[in-house]
Formats: sequence, structure tokens, C-alpha cells
Amino acid sequence: MSREQLAVARTRRAFQTGRSKPLEYRIHQLKKLQQLFTERQKEISEALKKDLNKSEVGTELYETLGLEGEISLAIRKLKEWAAPRPVEKNLLTLSDTVYIQPEPLGVVLIIGAWNYPWAVTIQPLIGAIAAGNAAVIKPSEVCVHTAKVMEDLLPLYIDKELYTVVTGGVTETQELLRQRFDHIFYTGNCMVGKVIMEAAAKHLTPVTLELGGKSPCYIDKNCDISIACRRIAWGKYTNCGQTCIAPDYILCEPSIQDQVIQEVNKSIKEFYTDDPKTCSDYGRIINQRHFKRIMAMLDDSTVAVGGDNDESDCYIAPTVLRDVKPEAKVMQEEIFGPLLPILSVSDLDEAIKFINNGEKPLALYVFSSDNKVIKRMTDETSSGGLLANDCLVHFSVSTLPFGGVGNSGMGCYHGKFSFDQLSHLRGCLVKQLKMEGVNSMRYPPHTLKKLGWARFFLLKHVDLGWMGRMALLAVFAVVAAVVLQSYLL
Ligand code: NAD
Repeated sequence: MSREQLAVARTRRAFQTGRSKPLEYRIHQLKKLQQLFTERQKEISEALKKDLNKSEVGTELYETLGLEGEISLAIRKLKEWAAPRPVEKNLLTLSDTVYIQPEPLGVVLIIGAWNYPWAVTIQPLIGAIAAGNAAVIKPSEVCVHTAKVMEDLLPLYIDKELYTVVTGGVTETQELLRQRFDHIFYTGNCMVGKVIMEAAAKHLTPVTLELGGKSPCYIDKNCDISIACRRIAWGKYTNCGQTCIAPDYILCEPSIQDQVIQEVNKSIKEFYTDDPKTCSDYGRIINQRHFKRIMAMLDDSTVAVGGDNDESDCYIAPTVLRDVKPEAKVMQEEIFGPLLPILSVSDLDEAIKFINNGEKPLALYVFSSDNKVIKRMTDETSSGGLLANDCLVHFSVSTLPFGGVGNSGMGCYHGKFSFDQLSHLRGCLVKQLKMEGVNSMRYPPHTLKKLGWARFFLLKHVDLGWMGRMALLAVFAVVAAVVLQSYLL
């Protein structure tokens, strides 16, 4: 048996003990996870400094603060989320108890990415624990130091048999994928997303795929370009552009291109000084493979701002590219680095057409003071999420589902959505062994008269509120008795 097989078998055995299910146990585990973040901030940020040159404050702001918020939300709301959810009934089920009961799925495989390694690995884990599952957690091997810290710290705080960390690269992940899980939650690129889905199909395992892609950013000339560019520069250059929802490229009319360049440049200096290389808030590319990939995109485009780089330090300056053509290398795949291409469009119509010609993006950004522009962009395009006049912040709103559509992924999470995503929403109906007369209409011999009653009971729409329902229930009982005596027997 391989190490991965053993880990999955052990996790499943732990799930089968049933101990992940009681709400008190789930809350206890969530509290332990919270404790990890209050006690181990130093180790977490030291590793992220080595992996991505994230600053200590940046780590808390972009990685762990959101997790602490999600954990306390889950602790506060768990009873409500896990409770039976009564649903509307039809006339035939009026006297029954009809409800949705969320139940754990079983063992969830969580495969994390490297760019926000804590956020994208632990956030699904919070959902998995809250929903009463066991989990196998596979941090990305690309963020070497963080993967090690995760492997060392998680077992010290949470139940290490129920929530198992397995480290390793492609070989180990593929061995994990040969095992049977009850759900696979993957964050990473689209190509590997397809590998995950194929492996999951062999066991009919459902998947959540949190993928990436090119997220467009349209700037309408009718807006405060200075504020728009500051927000875009923040969204783009945070974590050195290695953010799944970073604005990938700008679409604007040629008349405002120079002003956009000037304003983005101003914000770069404001955030990262005249020398971003020495600024503690400016990150690094994760490794030389990605450094080379990003630098190759510069080949056929014109640099308007930045462009400096240092391979030995995986440094690429915040960069703006002007007059970029749709055929340019930088437009052929997700950039995932600090290059911001500007493409010209003649108007909003052309921008919408351009966006709709590409794959459905994970995020879509529109900057305008005109609500009609925002409305048209919302109505005439599709994307995982849409933000008007800001970047990234929708990620932090736990009442919004976070996820992609089409090529940018499937399924969603955050807050209650994580709980629902990793639960089975079981439809339950509890009937009494009474009022058998009403059922006569479904039993053979089938007659047109019975069909007529079935049509009435099944298709009649009732929405009467509590009082109305009680009154109707009384009428229903009488009708049932009449039907029973006069027509059906
Ligand atoms: P990565 O290289 O860390 O890969 C992600 C995971 O997939 C890792 O755990 C890795 O071990 C595994 N993996 C890699 N190749 C594999 C293979 N051939 N078979 C099986 N498993 C394999 O991360 P990445 O893919 O470079 O991450 C960046 C991408 O992730 C970007 O496209 C980004 O947009 C996307 N992303 C999306 C979100 C989101 O929430 N939607 C968040 C972060 C990143």
C-alpha cells in the first residue's frame, strides 16, 4: 500500500467512527484551527516570506484574517446551517413533514494552490469540518516552505486522523487521485482541473474546481480615472500579480490610454516607492519557471511602465504594456504576474464583444460613473463574479458565492456556500400512516377520475402562510374523507 493509500484509508476509518458529525466536535475542531492562527502567525509569515516575499502584515491581511473571519462565522452559524430546512409543500404533502437535511459527504480531498496557500487550502477545510466531513489535505508543493509548515502545524491542532495532511507533487497527487473520495475540492489552473475531473469521473466523485483565466477590466471614459487606476493597480500588483482574481488586462478607449498609464504609474510609486525591488510590500514570482513564463510574454508588446527584472531574485517590476494587440503573447493565457496590458476598444459594445469572445472569466471588472454602463456589462456578459468600481474585495464577502463559471471553474464556496458545497442536501419527507384515502388516486386501477384529482392536488399552487395552511389542512382532511367515501372506493 502506498503512503497516499494508507492516508486515505486511515482518514476513512476515522470518518466511519462518526466522530466528525456531532456539532460540538465540529465547533471544537474549528476553535482549534482558530487557535493555530492566533498562536502560529510567526511561523506562517516566515514561510510565506521565503516562498513569495510576503510581508508579515501582508500575510495577515491577505491570508489569515479572512480565514479567522470564516472560522468565527462558521462557529456562530453552524447550528443554523446544519438544522433541518423546512420547504414549501404541495397539497398532497400538506400534512407531512417535508425538509432538507444537510448531511456530511464523507472524505473530501482538498488540493491547494501556491499563490495564497493558506487561504485556498484552509478555506475549503473550514467548510469540510463545518459540514461534518473528514478531509485529506494536499498543500501545493510549489510553495515549499508553507507546505512544510502546514504539514507540521495542522496535526498539532486538529484531529490528525480525521484531517490528514499529505504532502508531495504531481506523482503523489496522482496517486491520491486514484483513491476514492466523496468530493474533490481543487484550486489551481484549468489544465490540471481537467486531469482532476477525469480522475474523479472514474469514481463518480463530485468536484469543485476553483480555476483561473483572464479576468477583464473595462474602464469607461466616464469615471474618475485616478481612483479607478489606484484600485486596479492594487488589484493587479498585490502578490506580484499572482492572484486568481487579479485584473488580467485593461480594455479602454484610446483617448484615455495615456491617462490610465500615468495614473497606474502614480499608484505604483505610491504603493511600492520608486524602487519596488527594495519595498517590503512588493512580492516575488514564486519560482524561476514562472519567472521565465511571464518574461516570455513581454516579447511582442510595448512596455510603458516598469519592465525591470532580476531572474536570480525572481523579481519583475510592476509593468504596464500599451497598445497591446489581441494576438500578442500576453493575451494568449492567464498572465498570473505583474504585467498589465492595455487594449484599445472603440466603445462599450466592442468591449462586451471582446469579453464574450473569450472564455467566461473568474472575475469581471467595470469602472464607470454611469450605472447604465455597469448594468449593460452585467446583463450582457457572464463571469464567476462581477465587480463595479473596485477589484478583489468580493472575495472577502462571505455572503457572496465565490467560484467560476465555464472555463473558470465549477461550484462555489465561502461562508454558508462552503457548508452547502461540502454537504449532501438530503430531501426528506416524513408521513404518518394515516389518511390513506388520499393515496387511492395513485394506486391502480388508474382511472380518469383519479387522474383529475391527482392533477388538482399536484398542480394547484398554494401559498397561504401559516394560518392559511392550517385552514387548508382542515379543508384538505374533509376533502380527503369525501374523496375516499364518494369517489374512489
Ligand atoms: P499548483 O502548481 O500549486 O497546482 C495546484 C495543485 O495541483 C497542487 O497541489 C499540485 O500538486 C497539483 N497538480 C499540479 N499538476 C498536477 C497534475 N498533473 N496532476 C495532478 N495534480 C497536479 O498551482 P497552479 O495551478 O500553478 O495555480 C495557479 C492557478 O490557480 C492559476 O490559474 C490561478 O488563477 C488559479 N487559482 C484559482 C483560485 C480560485 O480560487 N479560483 C485561487 C488560486 C489560484
